Amino acid sequence: MGRILDLIVDLATALIVARMLAGAVKGFFRSGPSRFTSHTTAAPPREEQRTATAGETVRDPVCGMFVSTELSHSLRWHGTVLHFCSEECLERYRKSASA
Ligand SMILES: [Zn+2]
Repeated sequence: MGRILDLIVDLATALIVARMLAGAVKGFFRSGPSRFTSHTTAAPPREEQRTATAGETVRDPVCGMFVSTELSHSLRWHGTVLHFCSEECLERYRKSASA
C-alpha cells in the first residue's frame, strides 16, 4: 500500500514540476525579445514607458538625491530651474542662497 501512495506523490510532484516548467517557458517567451511578436501587437510597450517617465532626472542640490523634473519641486533661480525632492530641500536652498 505504501508503494502506491509513493507513486501518487511522485506523480503529483511531477505534475507540479511540469506545470512550473511550462509557466517558466511561457514567461520566458513573454519577456523575451519583442521582435517576434511586434508584427501583431499594435504598440510596443517601450513607447508607453517613455511617455510615462517623460522628463529628465536631475540632482537635488541640497541632499544629492536624484529626482524627476516632472515630480520635483522646482525653483527658478537666476535664470535656471533647480529641482528638489521636497519642499524642505527647496526652502533650505533658498535660505542658504539668500543668506
Ligand atoms: Zn532633497
